[in-house]
Amino acid sequence: MSYQCLNCGKQVDLDLKAAKKIQCSYCGYRILEKLRPPVAKRLSAV
Ligand SMILES: [Zn+2]
Repeated sequence: MSYQCLNCGKQVDLDLKAAKKIQCSYCGYRILEKLRPPVAKRLSAV
């Protein structure tokens, strides 16, 4: 899953299952925005 740091704007790949906390690996900022792929697949809610 790709996230964009709201502080430095870098794109960070995080595996939430492996990483216990979301944190920018460049600046250490903790607020990241989830990046959506340009073509959104429509998934039915489980
Ligand atoms: Zn950052």
